[in-house]
Amino acid sequence: MRRTLVAGNWKMHKTPTEAKAWFQELLRRMPPVSAEPALMVPFTALAAAQEILAGTGVAYGAQDVSAHLEGAYTGEVSARMLEDLGCTYTIVGHSERRQYHGESDTLVAQKAKRLLEHSITPILCVGEPIAAREAGNAVAYTLSQLEGSLEGVEPGSPDRLVIAYEPVWAIGTGKTATPQDAEAMHGEIRSWLAGRYSPGFAEGVRVLYGGSVKPDNAAALFRQPNIDGGLVGGASLQLDDYLKLLEAAR
Ligand code: PEP
Repeated sequence: MRRTLVAGNWKMHKTPTEAKAWFQELLRRMPPVSAEPALMVPFTALAAAQEILAGTGVAYGAQDVSAHLEGAYTGEVSARMLEDLGCTYTIVGHSERRQYHGESDTLVAQKAKRLLEHSITPILCVGEPIAAREAGNAVAYTLSQLEGSLEGVEPGSPDRLVIAYEPVWAIGTGKTATPQDAEAMHGEIRSWLAGRYSPGFAEGVRVLYGGSVKPDNAAALFRQPNIDGGLVGGASLQLDDYLKLLEAAR
């Protein structure tokens, strides 16, 4: 059984002070839920996450990591630093990093490897732009991205890898893939993982959907057999909405 994961991606929102207050309020209001809550926050909010969330069952992590181990890389943050901050997960290959920072599949694979070396589970994002979907190439595009981004990545066990399928045209746009379209792509991703690793591995890996997930569409998406939760941007910023997403994952 794969436990549903509801991972918030705060992007570049909330100061450390705001994050601290939000985490405290989350713990105060958290109902008993079967889903796993997780929050991917700015680097600057990770110390607050460690102080307040460590040991509570609410996982946290970063939104990116350096592909380098250590050294003269101004502005970079290493996997070892994230491990020391208690990160369980960290996003790699988000489309905003691919688009605005020119990140290639090869770089994304290097980042995933660095995380695994430091006991952090990568949440690896893939997904097609609108042109690929309109041309009928969504599956080929997404699986090719997956192949490149997992080149040389050997997680060992399925709980050491999370895939997020995020069609680029659905991120922050209010347009969501239909549960049927998302389910079809998740099925393709799982079959591909079975060939790349093994059927048992593919069966255990969580494949999240991301792209304008909101409280009113989450339940229908999370109910699909191959959708194991969500990577959620906008709707993870408001505590009321985030709590509704956790409830939708029942
Ligand atoms: C994301 O940040 O990965 C995302 C899917 O954003 P949104 O939910 O706002 O579309």
